[in-house]
Amino acid sequence: MNDSLDLAGIGIGPFNLSLAALLSKVQHFRARFFERRGGFNWHPGMMLPGTQMQTSYLKDLVTPVDPCNPYSFLSYLVDKGRFYRFVNADYPRVRRVEFADYLRWVAEQLPSLQFSSGVDEVAFVDGGFRLNGEGLRDVRARHLVVATGMRPHIPAWVERYFGDHCLHSHGYVGSDFSVTGKRVAIVGGGQSGAEIFLDLMAGNRGKADEIIWVSRRPNLDPLDETSFINEYFTPDYVRHFHALPEQRKPPIVASHKLTGDGVSPATLQVLSQYLYDTDFLNRDITPYTIMPYRDVHLMGRDKVGFHLHMRNGFNNADETISVDRIVLATGYRYQLPACLAPLIERLDLDQDGFPRLTADYQVPWDGPDGHRIYMQNAGRNSHGVADAQLSLAAWRAAVIINSLLEEAVYDVDPFPSPVRWAGGRTETADKAVKAMEAAKIYRVG
Ligand SMILES: Cc1cc2nc3c(=O)[nH]c(=O)nc-3n(C[C@H](O)[C@H](O)[C@H](O)COP(=O)(O)OP(=O)(O)OC[C@H]3O[C@@H](n4cnc5c(N)ncnc54)[C@H](O)[C@@H]3O)c2cc1C
Repeated sequence: MNDSLDLAGIGIGPFNLSLAALLSKVQHFRARFFERRGGFNWHPGMMLPGTQMQTSYLKDLVTPVDPCNPYSFLSYLVDKGRFYRFVNADYPRVRRVEFADYLRWVAEQLPSLQFSSGVDEVAFVDGGFRLNGEGLRDVRARHLVVATGMRPHIPAWVERYFGDHCLHSHGYVGSDFSVTGKRVAIVGGGQSGAEIFLDLMAGNRGKADEIIWVSRRPNLDPLDETSFINEYFTPDYVRHFHALPEQRKPPIVASHKLTGDGVSPATLQVLSQYLYDTDFLNRDITPYTIMPYRDVHLMGRDKVGFHLHMRNGFNNADETISVDRIVLATGYRYQLPACLAPLIERLDLDQDGFPRLTADYQVPWDGPDGHRIYMQNAGRNSHGVADAQLSLAAWRAAVIINSLLEEAVYDVDPFPSPVRWAGGRTETADKAVKAMEAAKIYRVG
C-alpha cells in the first residue's frame, strides 16, 4: 500500500487517541495512526474488578481543551444512557474498566485509526518518513508522532526465571496463574502491587498457602493527590519545569515519585479494613506477610522453590524468603521503540536515552525542518512526572496540534498556578490582573 500523509502516528494508547480525537475536527490534514494490536485495549492485564482511575474523568481525552468535543467522557455516558445513573451513583473515581470502555468507544468512532498494523521500521527517505511493518508497506508521511507507551520493567535479578511461575503485573489478568496450595511473593509496593495483593488474598487465583508482599519503599506509601501536589500536573508547572536547566530536573523528578507512584489512599483504606476483617472476623484466613523496606538483589531456584535474597533497609539485615510463585509489580520503564532504530543516530537523546524534547514535544533531529518527530510519554526527563499520566494528555495533544499546524487551533494557555515556581512575582500577578480584566472580574472591596 502506498500512502502519503501529513502525520503518521505510531501506537494507539490513550495519548495518541487523544491526539486523533482532537485532530478529528481539523480539516485538510491527513493523519493516520497505526497500532500493533487488533483493536483498542487499555492495559487489559490490569483490568481488575473494582479498580479505580487515579485521575478525574474530567481529564479525559478532550475536555480540558475542548469541552464541546463529541469524544468526551460525558458524551460517552449520555450515548450509553447512563448519565443520571452515573451521577446518582456518585463515584469518587470512575472504575478503570469503565474508563477503558470509554476509550474503546472513542477508538471505534475515529476513522483515522488503523489496527493490526505494527510499525517495525521508520526510515527517512526521499524527503519523507517511510513506515514499514506488519499490515503496512511503504506508508509515507511528512511528520511523525510516536506514542508507543512504556515497557514492563523486569529487574535483572529475575530475568532468567521469568516465565509461567514468575510473571509481570501487566500480564496478570488473562493469565492462568494459579496459586492454590502455593507460597506467593508479590514484589513492588505501588498501586499494582496493592491491587494484586488484594486479588490474591480474595482467593481469585485459588487459595494460597501464604502470600508475601515485598516492597523497597519504607512503608506502604500513599499516592499524594492533595491540591498543591496536583499543581505538578498542570500546564503552568510543566512549562516552568521544561525551562529548567537539564541538570536540575532529575532530583526534582525523584522528589515527585509519590505524586504518581504511591498507593491511592482509597486502596490503602480498603487494604487496612480487609486485613482487619481477615485477622479478627474471618475464619478462613490466608497467612500473609507484608515486608516493606526490602530491596531484592538476588534470586535463586532449587527443588524447594524460588529464593529471594533481600536487604532490609530498616535494620540493615539480610533476609531470604522462599516461594513457589512470583508476581512482579515492578512498574514500567521508558525505552525508545525499536522501529526508530534507523533514525536513532539522528535524534537528540540524553544520557538516559530519553529524547531532549522541545516545549512542544518535538525530538530535535538532524533532518530537514519541515519534517518533525513528536513523542508522547517520553518526556519524564524534559517535562517532569506529569508526562506519563493522563492528566495532561488532552493539553499536550493540543500543544502538538498547534505546533503541527503552526496556528493556535486550541487555547493551551489556561490561568496560571497560584504558586510562583520561578522568577519574580510581577509576571504572574500581571497575567492574573489582565485575565481578570478581560473576564470583567474585579477585586472585592
Ligand atoms: C494499570 C495502569 C493503570 C493506570 N491508571 C492511570 C490512571 O488512573 N491515571 C493516569 O493518569 N495514568 C494511569 N496510568 C498511566 C498511563 O496513563 C498509562 O500507562 C497510559 O496507557 C499511557 O498511554 P500511552 O498512549 O503512552 O501508552 P500505552 O497505553 O501503553 O499504548 C501504547 C500502544 O502502542 C502500541 N505500540 C507499541 N509499539 C508499537 C509499534 N511499533 N507499532 C504499532 N503500535 C505499537 C502498543 O501496542 C500500545 O497499544 C496507568 C498505567 C497502568 C499500567
